[in-house]
Amino acid sequence: MQFASTRNPDIKVDFREGVFQGLAPDGGLYHPVTMPDLTEVISKFGPGTTFLEIATEMTKGLFGDELTDEQAERICTKAFTFSPALVKVTDKISILELYHGPSCAFKDFGASYLAACMEEFLKSRSSKAIILTATSGDTGSAVARAFHKRENIEVIILYPSGRVSPLQEKQLTTLGENITALEVKGSFDDCQRMVKSAFVDPELIGKMTLSSANSINLGRLIPQSFYYLWANSRDQAGKTKPYFAVPSGNFGNLTAGVMASKWGMKTPGFLAVTNRNDVVPEYLKTGDYNPRPSEQTLSNAMDVGAPSNFDRLLAIFKGDWDKMKETIGEEVVTDKETLETIKRIQEDYNYLADPHTAVGFLGAERYLEKNADIENIICLSTAHPGKFLEVVQEATGSFPELPEQLKAIQDLEKVSIITENTDQALKDFLLARFA
Ligand SMILES: *Cc1c(COP(=O)(O)O)cnc(C)c1O
Repeated sequence: MQFASTRNPDIKVDFREGVFQGLAPDGGLYHPVTMPDLTEVISKFGPGTTFLEIATEMTKGLFGDELTDEQAERICTKAFTFSPALVKVTDKISILELYHGPSCAFKDFGASYLAACMEEFLKSRSSKAIILTATSGDTGSAVARAFHKRENIEVIILYPSGRVSPLQEKQLTTLGENITALEVKGSFDDCQRMVKSAFVDPELIGKMTLSSANSINLGRLIPQSFYYLWANSRDQAGKTKPYFAVPSGNFGNLTAGVMASKWGMKTPGFLAVTNRNDVVPEYLKTGDYNPRPSEQTLSNAMDVGAPSNFDRLLAIFKGDWDKMKETIGEEVVTDKETLETIKRIQEDYNYLADPHTAVGFLGAERYLEKNADIENIICLSTAHPGKFLEVVQEATGSFPELPEQLKAIQDLEKVSIITENTDQALKDFLLARFA
């Protein structure tokens, strides 16, 4: 499968090259040159097909030109030691739980697949890969867990000081070994900008192999389509295929779902739900795209003011606003509504949602109110409620149970390197450590 930069169609790579480059050399995002038609592969998925089977068949279908069947099977078996779960919560809304992986967030799917792909690809290379990643909370922990102790790979994580939850910070800063955490005195947008600037810095590129593990990386993006396919293939006897409500920040998750639909998954559409950082919903409403600094909210993994995957969405719809609107609806949810929703879902349906999932859930409920003909919506649940103890406690009055994966790290000691929020600061660090 061939991918081209969203900024220049002449810059083309295969999957392997795209995985290691992360961002294209011109600063664009890699995007499929043509969307493969996998309708036949997808039509074979049914309620009995496991997530691992779907991931493996899709990997073969998408990358059969580059990977042998054995490689595809090895990558998926290593990556997916965990699965999603689908829970019916109301008559019309089911929740797709994507938090059963090692860091208890949906980003485990992308990070694990990317780590497994890189490990497979590095077998035939002699050089070490350095992974640079900016996180607003969850990416970093998923990446840290997925890459911990992998040979020939060093991971540098940038996170905004004081803007991730205490537990998230522990996840980022306690693994050690090949994982280094840079605590940046600034916002997530600063972290993201610093990483982007490193990738296009000729001096750095000349001296080391830099790769990304952010949602901009194809190796993270592509596997996120697999759980849409899995959920879509579950039995919904007598009903039409479901919509998907996606709590969104950088829009990697939603983009992956839209890609699955372009490859042949039948769905009536998607719902982009954000917190107050509503750049994309605003675009869907007005046609104007105004990226701006992010604002801090209770669903902090979605505090993104300039979503990196927006260019990919534009590329999929060839810049056609009307087409995008036909496929993607929008809802915006405030912090106050997020707290109320967590409490109400628990009281009415005995379901405990994290703040991001609550944003998606309220978006789905509102969309159903406006569109009475819709039969069912699957709301993606992006994190375990135990990851956002403080917010869930504020909403419900009691602390949620911490998942086992997270209990273990609570007492470990934080190790981070305090870093200025400038491109030069990151460059200096990299040169000192790796050049
Ligand atoms: C990253 C993240 C999101 C947003 O996903 P995008 O792909 O960036 O839109 C939502 N919820 C949680 C818990 C996350 O970690």
